[in-house]
Amino acid sequence: MRVMEARLVLKSPAVVVQRRTERGFVKPADWIPGSMLRGAILTALHRAGKLGAGDLERERVEPSLLASPAYPVVKGSRSAPATPFMFYCRRCKSLVDITREAAEKLARGEEPEPPLPHECGEALKPMHGALVAREGRELRRVGVETFRSTSVAIGRERGSAVRGMLFDYEAIAEGTEFWAWVLAPDWLQPGSMEVAVGRGSSRGFGWAELRLEPAPQPRPYGSVLVAMSPLTPLKRLEWRGCALTLARVYGRLDRLQAGWEYGRGFRPIVEVARRGSLAVVEEVSGPAEPLRVGLPVKAGDSWLTGFNALVPLEEYYGVLGG
Ligand SMILES: [Zn+2]
Repeated sequence: MRVMEARLVLKSPAVVVQRRTERGFVKPADWIPGSMLRGAILTALHRAGKLGAGDLERERVEPSLLASPAYPVVKGSRSAPATPFMFYCRRCKSLVDITREAAEKLARGEEPEPPLPHECGEALKPMHGALVAREGRELRRVGVETFRSTSVAIGRERGSAVRGMLFDYEAIAEGTEFWAWVLAPDWLQPGSMEVAVGRGSSRGFGWAELRLEPAPQPRPYGSVLVAMSPLTPLKRLEWRGCALTLARVYGRLDRLQAGWEYGRGFRPIVEVARRGSLAVVEEVSGPAEPLRVGLPVKAGDSWLTGFNALVPLEEYYGVLGG
């Protein structure tokens, strides 16, 4: 098993929803959840005849291919979720980052301090969980380009409108690029493949080119980690010889529908710490590779994947080009 860096470029608009209401697709996501990316890769390999039904069943029972969430690449820079110690000044339009100072306090077992008002006097607004990327030397809030439309669906094969397929959607624009980490078993090699993400792939939505390349070795794991995905509130995580004991998680809790799990349509509601949260580690042992994509959590006879992707602070800033 090794970690690869994935780049995914949308070739058609993608309908990836954060939340569904009775009126249809409302809020488009600004990311591709790790479980969805994992499912997209498995489905593509199955379609290409490289994985059989038995292989897919084995992945459901005992996952070996794992993916971190995919976040947008904005003007060539990888984005990542903001920590609870990143703030925004509405007046100066600037971002204040006190994550390193806060992490040092957390590592010493001290309580981090709330931010002071900005130098201009304006109170600072928390950005925890919003996406940030570097633009020049500065960190900026970023998102994905979306559009809302009532549209006829386009048949993928013929490129023509499909009769009776009028619906309302909000989609992530074609051309949007995402990055992620993928933990690849031996049978997944670097290279390119066509995958489908989100809803409506049979109607032509969400087709993307996925490129996999070997990723550099992870940086050493210190005592404070940044969650690149939502984090399940468990004290101990263990998967295939990689174990992690958390002393504390610093970040807001959200209720989230754990969706898109491969096989059986299993979608429990879980309470998780928001992406970008900081985790204080008591102990980490075993290979570090799986930590970047997140240790799966057993739930009934299925696994929750796409959670608990954790990286050292230095690796987080490496992603952000700092
Ligand atoms: Zn200001």
